[in-house]
Amino acid sequence: MALIIRSSAIHAAGCYTTTRIRKGARVVEYTGHRLSKVEGDQVYDSSGVTYLFGLGDGSVVIDGHSMAMFINHSCQPNCETEEIDGRVWITAIRNIAAGEEITYDYCLYDGGEDEAVCNCGAEKCRGTMYSRAEMKSRRAAREKAAAPRGRRSAGRRKARRKKSLTARAAGDAIARAT
Ligand SMILES: [Zn+2]
Repeated sequence: MALIIRSSAIHAAGCYTTTRIRKGARVVEYTGHRLSKVEGDQVYDSSGVTYLFGLGDGSVVIDGHSMAMFINHSCQPNCETEEIDGRVWITAIRNIAAGEEITYDYCLYDGGEDEAVCNCGAEKCRGTMYSRAEMKSRRAAREKAAAPRGRRSAGRRKARRKKSLTARAAGDAIARAT
């Protein structure tokens, strides 16, 4: 694949392909150091931007360090992420033309008080980069916090801009567990 990084209308820099990519092709691997979730939280607790990708049940994260970390989120993406034997691949879910920006759905979770506003511009933009399951659990948490009994545990977590990226299935599993 011939990928380049240049400025993007979605957010800062983005990853573009200079050649056509066929549906189903592996575009790039999400590579980087593997950290435990606890280590990732320690390293990035006070950091503005992180590029963490949660593996499996979320106990291990990849600290992005390659082309793939520049790929922006879209609510109507042209790629998806696949976890295969502990490695994460960005795979085309449709044919992609030369010059297109590569995108996938971040399905964020564990973002603290960050609203993770989405600016993808897609027709069906859901307004946030959180997964649907995460949005549901956050809504439930807010409602619980509004009730007097839930106040104890609500709103204590530090806001963190955290790209804890995870494949859809894994994100859903984590959202259910929290
Ligand atoms: Zn969007």
